[in-house]
Amino acid sequence: EYRLEMRGVCKSFPGVKALDGINLRVRPGTVHALMGENGAGKSTLMKCLFGIYKMDEGEIYLDGEKMTILNPDDALHKGLAMVHQELQPIPERTIAENMYLGRYPLKNFGPLKVIDHKTMNEEAAKWLENVKMPYDPKAKLGSLSIAQMQSVEIAKAVSMSAKVVILDEPTSSLTDNEVEALFRIVRDLKSRGVSMIYISHKMAEIREIADDITIMRDGTYVGTWEVKDISDDEIVHQMVGRELTNVYP
Ligand code: ADP
Ligand code: MG
Ligand code: MG
Repeated sequence: EYRLEMRGVCKSFPGVKALDGINLRVRPGTVHALMGENGAGKSTLMKCLFGIYKMDEGEIYLDGEKMTILNPDDALHKGLAMVHQELQPIPERTIAENMYLGRYPLKNFGPLKVIDHKTMNEEAAKWLENVKMPYDPKAKLGSLSIAQMQSVEIAKAVSMSAKVVILDEPTSSLTDNEVEALFRIVRDLKSRGVSMIYISHKMAEIREIADDITIMRDGTYVGTWEVKDISDDEIVHQMVGRELTNVYP
């Protein structure tokens, strides 16, 4: 039984088949590395997952149930959260206000669930404590480091009972200490049954934090392994594909 399953995902742009039958099977409470060279299709796959792009073909299952995901808001409400660096946080708003952005669906014209500032701050403080973020209710989001903003995003995901959290190259601008802090959060989420998709090119990180790995190459699905069963050399080999060495028949 998988937490998240993507089956046979295809997506073309004019002149390029970006995804050609991609499979992704993420077990509950695991970190699943998604690897592939630049242009392999990792971001496109995640954009299909979040409804940013409409897939040409393919299916998405969450806990065995087939899902159609319309847009990123819909994804969030169905239990999928994305943590990346080009978020659209509002720097001049407080941390709590950012955590509550987009939380309540606006598509209904019925009575809107609203939350008062006191309750919002109390709730935010509780969730931020989970990711070891000291909470200053007056601090603006823009005053935080990238690592701290990521912690806020993760706290938001957890507070919305995210089943799958996608981390797209989360350590690219973190210090060693910040990476260690992030990994502590990741391990804590795992222990609480949250699944994560971890996009990274850093082999040492994959070894340290990931359980499973799926490799993509030129928009195609190469395979899925348990990290412990595949060597670094083999990972690289699978990412770049076999060179044509046998030039003589
Ligand atoms: P990765 O994240 O693995 O580096 P991408 O998903 O960004 O790869 O890109 C996969 C392929 O799809 C590339 O050839 C890229 O040029 C193409 N591609 C991605 N997005 C678009 C788009 N919006 N329009 C046209 N081509 C795109
Ligand atoms: Mg890229
Ligand atoms: Mg990418």
